[in-house]
Amino acid sequence: MTLEKDKALRELVLKAALLNALQHGGKAQAGALMGRIIGERQELKTKAKELSGLISKVVNEVNSLSVEEQKRIVEEKWPEALKKEKLEEEKRLPPLPNADKYKQVVTRFSPNPNCVLHLGSARAIILSHEYARLYKGKFLLRFEDTDPKVKKPVLEFYDRIREDLAWLGCKADEEYIQSDRLPIYYEYTERLLREGNAYVCECQPEKFRKKTLSRKACDCRDLPATRNLERWRRMLEGDYAEGEAVVRVKTDLDHPNPAVRDWPALRIIDTEKYPHPRVGSKYRVWPLYNMAAGVDDHLMGVTHVIRGKEHLTNQVRQEYMYKHLGWKYPEAIHYGRLKITGAFLSKSKIVQGIREGAYTGWDDPRLATFAALRKRGITPDAIKKMIVDVGPKTADVTLSWENLYAYNRKILDPQSDRYFFVSESIELKVKHVPKVFKAKLPLHPEKPERGFREYTVTPKREEGVAIFWIAKRDADAAEVGKVIRLMELFNVRIESVNADSVEASFASQAYDEARKAKAKLIHWIPKGEEFPCQVVMPDAAVNEGIAESACKKLKSDTVIQFERFGFVRVDKNDAKLTAYFAHK
Ligand SMILES: [Zn+2]
Repeated sequence: MTLEKDKALRELVLKAALLNALQHGGKAQAGALMGRIIGERQELKTKAKELSGLISKVVNEVNSLSVEEQKRIVEEKWPEALKKEKLEEEKRLPPLPNADKYKQVVTRFSPNPNCVLHLGSARAIILSHEYARLYKGKFLLRFEDTDPKVKKPVLEFYDRIREDLAWLGCKADEEYIQSDRLPIYYEYTERLLREGNAYVCECQPEKFRKKTLSRKACDCRDLPATRNLERWRRMLEGDYAEGEAVVRVKTDLDHPNPAVRDWPALRIIDTEKYPHPRVGSKYRVWPLYNMAAGVDDHLMGVTHVIRGKEHLTNQVRQEYMYKHLGWKYPEAIHYGRLKITGAFLSKSKIVQGIREGAYTGWDDPRLATFAALRKRGITPDAIKKMIVDVGPKTADVTLSWENLYAYNRKILDPQSDRYFFVSESIELKVKHVPKVFKAKLPLHPEKPERGFREYTVTPKREEGVAIFWIAKRDADAAEVGKVIRLMELFNVRIESVNADSVEASFASQAYDEARKAKAKLIHWIPKGEEFPCQVVMPDAAVNEGIAESACKKLKSDTVIQFERFGFVRVDKNDAKLTAYFAHK
């Protein structure tokens, strides 16, 4: 029997191909199936060539289906398989609509370079980039810098945005800058005017507003194309002052949403007064958002626009222009608002605060900019994971810093070495230490292979005194008569607690003794092994203290955990260690 006629085998291949396709955004990979099939039907090993032919045939069939169809077949034939896949796939992004209709999926992120990026942009960036990667497509970066007056772009932010994307692992495959493309927008404007689908409106905004609210055309709307083109030429030549003329795209004056009716596409900006940082005073007529973004999405081949649902009306507006130009509007995915409680995300307030010196810079730990997160040791993978888990759903989502910290902790915990940091150090004097102790402190409690920090505690001959530094909060909590354990060293009994020192005497060495006595475990640094250290906290407060001497060798940009304190990122390390606090 040829394999082609083996019905059971064909079903097996079909099932494997469908499940594989659903895992890969609708495109099964033939290469992945061979091993899986032979794993279940050992006897086919000798017929690999024929089997491979069958597989590629089935894969072609499967890949010609839409993701929805693929899902439907699996749901019908093998519902239990889908359940299993779902469990494994829980945290994957849902498939893009109609991805198979396009030769290549193209997504874009289009910031205005008038501020650095912050957590509020994470969703647009990461979803667009992840989907492009998932479908082996293209991810574009487009600077939307066509407002040199109100949302004026700033040169330094173009680079900062590129840096932020690189840090996030979302580098663009192609980059465009709208201020380079004004002649293109002019070309399509002329076409719209010529074909009677747009007009140059000279009405005062207030007068125009009243007209459109009552669903009436203004006097400019029905002027012949020649008159409009004449007005357009005068716009370009500088005959109008700011606000005296605007190009409007014709829509439906009866559209239920007045904001859709004949929306403004281009306006005049006096660039002698408000020069553009890149092109200076070269242009006076500037496209507004829907004109520039709408034309670009089409010309750049964007297949899937992934953005917040506050853009829904923009889609409605742009669809009129697309219809006028005979274009097909891309697939649009509008996700809900993502709020992060406690995160400071107002661009204008960030810019203002920096200008006024309220923040130390773009990476001030109080800000939720990517620069600040990077400085604090928040990893791009944590941000990515959080965003992918939320996905593109339309419902609003509220997350907290704690949510982000939980993702980050999972990444940092296994890879961060442990050290002691004593905040606001207080002297602890321990008497009657019977011998020399060698403390061997693991760099990571679960990974002895990472090595140890070693300290020798040598008591002074008289009374066997050893002196340590401990944190003020531990000193404050110490109670006379109680036992506490110096982690990985020995147990001591508190004898007296003073304002700037604590006295104790050696009690025992074994950890078991501490456990029996329910002793608190505290960290410590032997006197003489301290190294000055400050930790900048998320509220920009500086926590002064000392770190153990093993920290001297830490390189900047290393993330470590100060035990019983939290994860920190080493920022500078010379005569003093400066670290930024990530989270507990
Ligand atoms: Zn008008």
